[in-house]
Amino acid sequence: MQDTIANGKLVIISGPSGVGKSTICKRLVEQLDAFVSISVTTRARAAAEENGRDYWFIGPDEFKKRLENNELLEWAEVFGNFYGTPKKPIEEALGQGRVVILEIDVQGARQVKRIFRDALTIFILPPRKEDLLKRMADRDRGEDAQNQRRRLETAAREIADAWQRYDHLVVNDRLEVAVQEIIELIQDSKKETV
Ligand code: 5GP
Repeated sequence: MQDTIANGKLVIISGPSGVGKSTICKRLVEQLDAFVSISVTTRARAAAEENGRDYWFIGPDEFKKRLENNELLEWAEVFGNFYGTPKKPIEEALGQGRVVILEIDVQGARQVKRIFRDALTIFILPPRKEDLLKRMADRDRGEDAQNQRRRLETAAREIADAWQRYDHLVVNDRLEVAVQEIIELIQDSKKETV
């Protein structure tokens, strides 16, 4: 186990698909000069996504290789695809004293917390269940109905789990309000660990 390197702060952002995590992370980059980790994934790239910006899209063999070489801080299988957090960029950014954001699922959050005890964990909630359903339907990734249903079932399980495990739950009703709330949580948490 280790505490966060130097004065950097590791922040884990989780939440159901379509809750607005990526937009929140973009704002944190702009307002806190935070470093956002780019995960590797074996999932197919959606039309609107870019390799190296949204994810590093790699094949299952490459994923296995990185896992075996101990290059991933954590990893998980989500909806039949593998996702993982490259270790080196995170260690470097923490070493520079930066706020480092990981947008990962609850399985990954659990693994990271075991390594970095003082990582701040934040779970984003939709204001209403209907909003989540609509946002999930609006993101056209060419998914079939069965996959969309699985995402919804996973969301329900994760929300229940988050009540117990996460440091904070933040409702993303108005984006600016949610972002401000998260910034305050990060700043408070940095004060605690100094
Ligand atoms: P999506 O396919 O919608 O981009 O992501 C599906 C889920 O995988 C989301 O809950 C997202 O937070 C999670 N995820 C993305 N990258 C990683 C990662 O590197 N590790 C883990 N554990 N989960 C990830």
